[in-house]
Amino acid sequence: MSSGNEESWWTEQRNRRSQQCRNATCTCHIEGTLEPDLALALAKRNRVALRWTSIDELKAQYEFEDLQSFLDLYYALMKTLKTKDDFKDLMVAYLTRANADGVKHTEVFFDPQVHVCTNGLDFNTVLDGLLEGMAIGRERFGITGGLILSIVRDMDIDSANMILDLAQPRKNEILGIGLDSAEVGYPPDRFVDQFERARSFGWHCVAHAGEEGPAAYIRDALDLLHAERIDHGIHIQDDHELLERVVRDGVPLTCCPLSNLRLQVVHDMRKHPIPEFLHEGLMCTINSDDPAYFGGYAAANYAALADIGMSMEELAALAKNSVDASFASDSRKTQLTEELLAWRAQHGI
Ligand SMILES: [Zn+2]
Repeated sequence: MSSGNEESWWTEQRNRRSQQCRNATCTCHIEGTLEPDLALALAKRNRVALRWTSIDELKAQYEFEDLQSFLDLYYALMKTLKTKDDFKDLMVAYLTRANADGVKHTEVFFDPQVHVCTNGLDFNTVLDGLLEGMAIGRERFGITGGLILSIVRDMDIDSANMILDLAQPRKNEILGIGLDSAEVGYPPDRFVDQFERARSFGWHCVAHAGEEGPAAYIRDALDLLHAERIDHGIHIQDDHELLERVVRDGVPLTCCPLSNLRLQVVHDMRKHPIPEFLHEGLMCTINSDDPAYFGGYAAANYAALADIGMSMEELAALAKNSVDASFASDSRKTQLTEELLAWRAQHGI
């Protein structure tokens, strides 16, 4: 294939993929959008010594073999983020990719405990940079959204409390609270006080549960943390009574197929339960988790499901779920739904 043909093939693939997730909303971790080229540029800009100096050397590290090698790289590269502009640039780079994928609204997790308690940054530096990046995304691409302050569940609980103290004066600039990182051994019942406090701030509550942990963590996230949305939740397949309850109550699950494959939560994409979940009436949505590390952004996740045989109609239903499951304003949801319907009509889906 000549390079011109190759380029048009890629453009076609890109267009096909962005069509599949047209008008979707998406969640991800902003730290998980740090691509190797930006990480190297930040390391140079901030004089942070990394073990990897060339782009090829660093890119090779993204082929990690297990959760630990992923986390080692993830935390090492987070040290390259130092200034407000770094966080702004990271957000703008992410929103540029989200826009190319057809994403219209995004609710982005950030992990201030790592930036502040481990890496010694000022909380306001982190928040200001991310918010500035989101404002640029709104102006440049029309992407709406907000930030979800995520508790890193395997860090000291005092650091979570300290972050909530720092966030309180700026509670109106943050959309919600989340719970992420290593799940097993850190069940939801440890975080009841922090989620209660977040609710007193007027924040939405979401939690990673049932990703590597058991279905019982999903139940506890609902009952004890009052989570409005469950991130991942894939192990709900092990508890049919809970699944029926979640269907009945219309609790959304933010599924991340490529992440599940990379972290071996599923071993074969063809066996991913999303088609079955959708059939059972679960409100699943498609998201990218840590897209720089797990093989792609929103559109790549939709494409992975198309590749296992999900129809455009099913993918459009997932996009519609993502609008309904988001914390966008009612008027924004109506607008996104109308755009999605118009797109479906135009393509006969
Ligand atoms: Zn996640």
